[in-house]
Amino acid sequence: MTSNSKGSKGLNTLSNKQLERIIAEIDQAIEWHQSWYKQLLRSLISNVPANKHDLSDNAHTFCEFGQWFNKLPTDTKKLHPHFSEMGTAHQKMHQGAKVLLSLNEAKSAIPVSLLDQFHADLDTLRDLFEAVSDEFSDVLHTRDPLTGATDRTNLLSHLRKEHERCKRHSLECAIIMIDLDHFKRVNDEHGHAAGDKVLVALVKCIQSHLREYDQLYRYGGEEFLVCLPETELGGAKSFSERLRASVEELNINIGTNTPINVTGSFGIASVSVNDDIEQAIERADHAMYQAKKSGRNRVCVT
Ligand code: GH3
Ligand code: MG
Ligand code: MG
Repeated sequence: MTSNSKGSKGLNTLSNKQLERIIAEIDQAIEWHQSWYKQLLRSLISNVPANKHDLSDNAHTFCEFGQWFNKLPTDTKKLHPHFSEMGTAHQKMHQGAKVLLSLNEAKSAIPVSLLDQFHADLDTLRDLFEAVSDEFSDVLHTRDPLTGATDRTNLLSHLRKEHERCKRHSLECAIIMIDLDHFKRVNDEHGHAAGDKVLVALVKCIQSHLREYDQLYRYGGEEFLVCLPETELGGAKSFSERLRASVEELNINIGTNTPINVTGSFGIASVSVNDDIEQAIERADHAMYQAKKSGRNRVCVT
């Protein structure tokens, strides 16, 4: 799973703090389950009396993970399909544990097939915990600290995965390269801190135009890359034109009486089924330079 796969819808809308909290909670859930499992083994192997909750039909709602999971806001659960899979896997695992404990209480032998099934269910649940925790951590740790845009760490692998997904559905995607115009002047005239505010405002503006599965990367200093999945050239052009106009209209507050305005140059490359991603990035970059050469504050296509 990658942060731009269909799995992670809305993950980018979370603040770093929110992401950190969910990761910590999942890690806590993993620990809870580890101690719950040790307790289960004590009952099964050493005949320590079972927790009565574990013998109930709703065992999955009583354990600490179950209680946390039930309280998890629906919006959070919607952030990743693994959450609902987790709920199902967790319930199944508890049902298996209940059967094992009941047999044990009745002093009946536990068939090895039941034990194996229980362990398989437990592994499924642990895999889901880890996958979600890893993916959320990945999103958190590949964010540009200034703007919150995704940094370049996984850019190529994300784009390749997105391209593969589009290929499976015989769809195109589009890559847009955006570079602020005369940004050096902003720094020179208003200072680096003002320049930083401009970058933050620009990213906010770009993000407000993105659909759920579109992805924004900080490609370099004042250069950004947007990937629009399932988008043909015409759609990418109108998107870029709308965004270009919005950037031009931004009144950016830099803490002085007069807000400042900036513009950007846009280069679009459409990525078809047989295209190579790195070449597509080069094409978008080339188109962006065309936009610079032909006067800036415009959208060009290769
Ligand atoms: P052009 O229209 O040709 O793109 O001109 P430009 O001035 O935008 O391009 P140039 O590459 O000459 O300058 C880019 C500037 O972006 C220089 C660099 O100091 C600034 N920059 C890069 N990263 C940051 C940042 O994180 N914060 C600030 N404030 N400035 C940055
Ligand atoms: Mg520039
Ligand atoms: Mg540049």
